[in-house]
Formats: sequence, C-alpha cells, structure tokens
Amino acid sequence: MSADADPVREEREAWNAYIAKNGLKRSEQREAILDVFLRTESHLSVEDLLKLVQKKRPDVGRTTVYRTLKLFAAAGLARELHLDGETRFERDWNREHHDHFICRSCGAIFEFKSDQIEQLQEEIAAEIGFVIDGHRHHIYGLCQRCQAKAKGR
Ligand SMILES: [Zn+2]
Ligand SMILES: [Zn+2]
Repeated sequence: MSADADPVREEREAWNAYIAKNGLKRSEQREAILDVFLRTESHLSVEDLLKLVQKKRPDVGRTTVYRTLKLFAAAGLARELHLDGETRFERDWNREHHDHFICRSCGAIFEFKSDQIEQLQEEIAAEIGFVIDGHRHHIYGLCQRCQAKAKGR
C-alpha cells in the first residue's frame, strides 16, 4: 500500500506537526476523536461528534471533544461555525472557501459558493478602502422539506 492510499494522510501529518510544535502530549482519546472526525463530511455540533466517538470510546466526555475540536481548528483541520446560538465544526483542510444556507427549522446546512457574490463584496470593499481578510455568510431560512411540512399543516 502506497502512502497516498490514506486519504487523510496530510491531515494526520498536520495534526502530528501541531502536537509536536505545541509540546502537547499524545493522547489516545484525542487520537480516537481525530479518527472519527476525519471520517465525517458534515457540519457537526459537539454533541454530534460526541455521539459518534462514544460508540467506540464511551469514556470520552463532552469537554474533551470540545477542547479537541478547538485544537483541530487551531491546527487547521477544522473550521468553527458560529450559528444562531450553536457552534458547529466542519473539516477545513485544503477546502475551498464556501458559505452556508441554514434551515431554521431542522438545522440542515447547504453549502454554496458564488463567484459573483465574492467579486461584488470585493468591489464594495474597494470603494470604501476596506481590505477584506475573511468573511462568513450564514443565510437563514427554511429548506424545501420544512417548507412542504409547513404548508401541509
Ligand atoms: Zn429544514
Ligand atoms: Zn461548510
């Protein structure tokens, strides 16, 4: 098996580098959390990830999951999203910038990227001499399914 066969090899390397650089001790619990996190593809709350981790490691608690996700974010593996009163995490390694639509009813999250919107905000910023170094669009509303449910009532 070649080294490239591991799709998350770079993420593991980045994590190991981060641990070494920051003088953190290797922890079995954190490694278990990393294994689970690197298999996810969505926008997870701490509780979501906790449930997945506890299937394998019932001894891992919420605080450990939360602190570890914060470390993943610092290491560039995760991005933290502050949604309406809730924090979620998504994988961020080598991911292109994107923004989110969020359903207020069921919490479903849809990713999008619009070159037009990105371009437009650059132009508006330039007009007022503003230099953008990042942005998040969180657009709230109702997903198709929840609209249908609301009508059916
Ligand atoms: Zn919905
Ligand atoms: Zn996303």
